[in-house]
Amino acid sequence: MNILERYHAMEYGPAPEARNEADAWLAARDFGKALFIGGDWKAASGGKTFDTSDPSSRKLLAKVSDAGAADIDAAVSAATKALPKWSASTGYQRAKVLYAIGRAMQRHQRLFAVLESIDNGKPIRESRDIDVPLAIRHFIHHAGWAQALDRDFPGHKGVGVVGQIIPWNFPLLMLAWKIAPALAAGCTVVLKPAEFTPLTAILFAEICERSGVPKGVVNIVQGGPEAGGAIVNHPGIQKIAFTGSSEVGKIIRKATAGSGKKLSLELGGKSAFVVFEDADLDSAVEGLVDGIWFNQGQVCCAGSRLLVQEGIADAFIAKVKTRMSRLRVGSPLDKNTDIGPLVDLTQLDRVKGLIAEGAKQGAICWQPDSALPAAGYYHLPTLATGVSPANILAQEEVFGPVLATMTFRNTEEAIELANNTRYGLAASVWSENINLALHVAPQLKAGVVWVNGTNMFDASCGFGGYRESGFGREGGREGMFEYLSAKLPLGPIIKPATSSARPVEQAEGGAIDRTAKLFIGGKQVRPDGNYSFAIASAKGKLAGEIGLGNRKDIRDAVATARACKAWPEATAYNRSQVLYYLAENLSGRADEFAARLTQLTGATAKAARDEVELSIERLFLYAGLADKFEARVHQPPARAVTLALHEPVGVVGIIAPDNAPLLGLISLVAPALAMGNTVVAVPSEKYPLLATDLYQVIEYSDVPAGAINIVTGRSAELAGVLAKHDDVDGLWVFADAETCAKAEAESIGNLKRVWTGNGHSLDWPSNEAAGDALLRRAIEVKNVWVPYGD
Ligand code: NAD
Repeated sequence: MNILERYHAMEYGPAPEARNEADAWLAARDFGKALFIGGDWKAASGGKTFDTSDPSSRKLLAKVSDAGAADIDAAVSAATKALPKWSASTGYQRAKVLYAIGRAMQRHQRLFAVLESIDNGKPIRESRDIDVPLAIRHFIHHAGWAQALDRDFPGHKGVGVVGQIIPWNFPLLMLAWKIAPALAAGCTVVLKPAEFTPLTAILFAEICERSGVPKGVVNIVQGGPEAGGAIVNHPGIQKIAFTGSSEVGKIIRKATAGSGKKLSLELGGKSAFVVFEDADLDSAVEGLVDGIWFNQGQVCCAGSRLLVQEGIADAFIAKVKTRMSRLRVGSPLDKNTDIGPLVDLTQLDRVKGLIAEGAKQGAICWQPDSALPAAGYYHLPTLATGVSPANILAQEEVFGPVLATMTFRNTEEAIELANNTRYGLAASVWSENINLALHVAPQLKAGVVWVNGTNMFDASCGFGGYRESGFGREGGREGMFEYLSAKLPLGPIIKPATSSARPVEQAEGGAIDRTAKLFIGGKQVRPDGNYSFAIASAKGKLAGEIGLGNRKDIRDAVATARACKAWPEATAYNRSQVLYYLAENLSGRADEFAARLTQLTGATAKAARDEVELSIERLFLYAGLADKFEARVHQPPARAVTLALHEPVGVVGIIAPDNAPLLGLISLVAPALAMGNTVVAVPSEKYPLLATDLYQVIEYSDVPAGAINIVTGRSAELAGVLAKHDDVDGLWVFADAETCAKAEAESIGNLKRVWTGNGHSLDWPSNEAAGDALLRRAIEVKNVWVPYGD
């Protein structure tokens, strides 16, 4: 046997990580008092505990306190008590605490890694080299944000007490993503880890005790859905940050509707891993291993759908199979292990069930011929080929080591297949042609896109999803906004509309009768139902009759807004010019609009003129900002740049208020348009003639058909239709409190981004009701990672 043959024949020797420190740590604790509340360790008030076990051996690790509603109440009280002092502390004081936490975690890095691997089953290579260092980086990075608050977020304050609920797949990392920005912003925290993985959060709480975190600023409560539900529904909490399944995310969206709680949801995914024929195939195979078999595939952004170009599919799949045969399935504490056990028996059964169903639906499921360890919840890496786009393995998040493979012929088909999912968390694009990769990245509906890479994360770069992968971002600047609030200038409380059954009196004068229709797809169209309603002038006379839009009209308007590509694909400069042109044309008819305002609302001539002038000014403002509210470039500590692109949310529904009926409508529609969204607006129910008078202005102003659609009618009813419509991506509602709450609750079909005034209007003339605060709501931030170097 020559040296080369000997080299190839060599077997891996075991390389076990010692666990004696972790065992000593486990032995020295009373897990029956595992609730960290107000700086003390407490048992659950009901005395309940739950078991946490080692998934590689199924052996019990600890019986941990299981919090009930009374414990959550105690934790919220502690956080509330600690809030005034913590939020009033200087950025420097908070930075020192965050820094101390980061440094203390560094000192206990290995213990964190071993505990995480024992509790969750993830290979020690991952917990030691990825989870723990990234968690530490998060605290140190956010120390800087604590001091930069006044500089970077003027006018913003911490939201208050936050409730945070995290999953089991990255227990420490998810904790860091939640707690670091909250503390930097001056919030106090009640965090609940997942019931499968409580341990590293307990070690983290001990570190808080020693790092100068004031009592009550960080409270960590252990438990399951019941404890989670008590956090979500607690009235003393101002913000909920949730990471977990889309199913629970929807429950939380509904439960918090109308409560005024700020909400961020980081949910599931079904991310595409797209390999073009000009990719470096060997690198792509390595990327794929990381993309789908990292943490046994129990990763929200796992590249679980391989889309490979037809011409290279056979060669690529052959390489993948060879590589899969070499993946080492074994003890998480062995440093050679690539794939550890799944977290729990329920998860193992779920994965097996989905594979069986996928096979029934026609997928061919292949596994390498490797042995599985006897104990533990192990599952072999699995490759599914012959997967149709509708197959359960292509659509459902498996959250296990299962890769579904499909082929594509050309770039358009790749994009279409990649976007053929209700999720939108991440995607990887592999091509040696950077032009192609950067052509594809913006067209993928995903919050993160990795070019020639996968699973790259950093505290400076936002992470989060589109569509049913949730909303909000974690990390970086965007992530800080999730824990901050700026007081928007409130306007009057909006009362529910009361429709008058009695027709209003005939107007005087002999003007020719005008029919105010709807405006859909660039045309004035009659309402589907052929009903009209009367609009009264301020003097109680008939000012006009207006089309009563219904569900079908909203459907038509949404379809045309969705089909309008000319607007989102226009350059920001083009959009800017169209908005300027709208302003110019409105200005040409300023007298007419002022007269209409006076006629309908009874405003004085001066007040009416002022509202028109401000509306023109606001169009000018957003025309100017269309090409200035721009992307950023991050420089994470990796050989990569990250482009934080601003993309439109998509189709945005707008329910405009009655107060300042022209200015309010324009103040909402203009920022949405400026960022490239297409709009379906329901104007003021009481004064819709101001919007119908705008049709001609829009028609003159080179606005592409479908970019602005206006449906007049009953605001509450049409808000409900928009909320339930799964092709509406964003919804802004300025209506009575009940309509706002319903819009939030009914938005769960596709988890659209809903912004409401909670029953208040805004003070539209105020400068604070314009600018970045609105533009931020009109965009999604997509982080595109572009590595460089050989
Ligand atoms: P899960 O939704 O079942 O549980 C997540 C957390 O919510 C747990 O702490 C759980 O106790 C709690 N919970 C469960 N029901 C609740 C309820 N009704 N009210 C309040 N809290 C409740 O999810 P999981 O199985 O623990 O985690 C896996 C999911 O997490 C996957 O879908 C994965 O994609 C997602 N995830 C997303 C991200 C992201 O950043 N987008 C990151 C990691 C994991």
